[in-house]
Amino acid sequence: MKDSKNRTIDYMRISITDRCSLRCKYCMPYGVECVPRWDILSLEEIEAIAIAAAGLGIKKIKVTGGEPLARKDCCQLVRLLKSVPGIEKVTITTNGVQLGQYLDGLVEAGIDGINISLDTLDRELYRAITGRDALGDVMAALKRAAGLPIPVKINAVSIDFKEIAVRAGCPEASADWRSLTELAREYPVDVRFIEMMPIGYGKEFKTVNHEDLLKEMRETYPDMEEDESEHGFGPAVYYRVPGFLGSIGLISAIHGKFCASCNRVRLTSQGYLKSCLCYEDGVDLREILRGGETRPEGDCHYFWPAGRKPGDRELQRRLTEAMERAILMKPAAHCFENPGRITESHNMISIGG
Ligand code: SAM
Ligand code: SF4
Repeated sequence: MKDSKNRTIDYMRISITDRCSLRCKYCMPYGVECVPRWDILSLEEIEAIAIAAAGLGIKKIKVTGGEPLARKDCCQLVRLLKSVPGIEKVTITTNGVQLGQYLDGLVEAGIDGINISLDTLDRELYRAITGRDALGDVMAALKRAAGLPIPVKINAVSIDFKEIAVRAGCPEASADWRSLTELAREYPVDVRFIEMMPIGYGKEFKTVNHEDLLKEMRETYPDMEEDESEHGFGPAVYYRVPGFLGSIGLISAIHGKFCASCNRVRLTSQGYLKSCLCYEDGVDLREILRGGETRPEGDCHYFWPAGRKPGDRELQRRLTEAMERAILMKPAAHCFENPGRITESHNMISIGG
């Protein structure tokens, strides 16, 4: 559907968990608490929301988290989402640590693309950023995924990793972005850099200005040209380097604001539909799905009531009406350049990056 600024909203990012196998310093450092399991949407609840979303014109879904593969039913969810009429593409963003284990399952479920978040190829620095010595697992999965006939993208955040390396006691670690871009020479994968947004722990890190990064990239790869071919449904600007198998992308939310063409809404793992990353505003879809049910004692999962259908007509009517409201309240633009006006206080781990 169109929002009040005449933008077509056809993309929904769904966070399916706030759990994660890593502890990235800018996202979920040690000490961040997870919500009780009962608060997280069940498969059927996510399916119900996806049906309503498709009715409103959502065609593309990104499964994210937390770490989506920390949820054992992730492949089942991908299969369910793929079966919703109107949903054309379902892709996933993962840290890649368990990807080797789930790759076949994701492909069988019909996944249309895989994004792997990877900030460095230096083992020590990887451990300093994420808290785990898991670079080998990620690289093994990446190489396998790159051989599949689906798009694979590498996402790296743009911050000064040298500082993290020094603080972690490995000042000799290589924090140079060029080792990442070189992956696109060797493998048919797009390598994208993402400006750090001042959300959650991201506020503690200064983003690299992509205008500066682009200048450095042009110096390193003088033959680099803008790549206007279709790469997906996001705001990245792509470049091709002759001889490379993949492209290089820049996602510049701060220094290349793309709000005027924003096409997305975000569903948190607890069922809150947000229309912009920067503001708290949104609608509580879990309240509609569970109608005031209270959390029982103990840490248990929520169970969808037997006999109820995700496509139930009255449920769909109420979800659709609420989602329409959220889309219509989508603001014209974020205000990351003016931190005092940011109202979102949740961490990226609970919103879904
Ligand atoms: N665990 C999965 C992963 O790492 O891909 C999915 C969730 S993670 C929150 C999604 C993406 O958001 C990752 O690429 C991560 O680097 C990025 N991210 C986290 N915090 C961010 C921030 N403040 N600004 C920009 N990107 C951020
Ligand atoms: Fe986990 Fe992804 Fe956040 Fe890292 S960026 S802590 S992998 S959710």
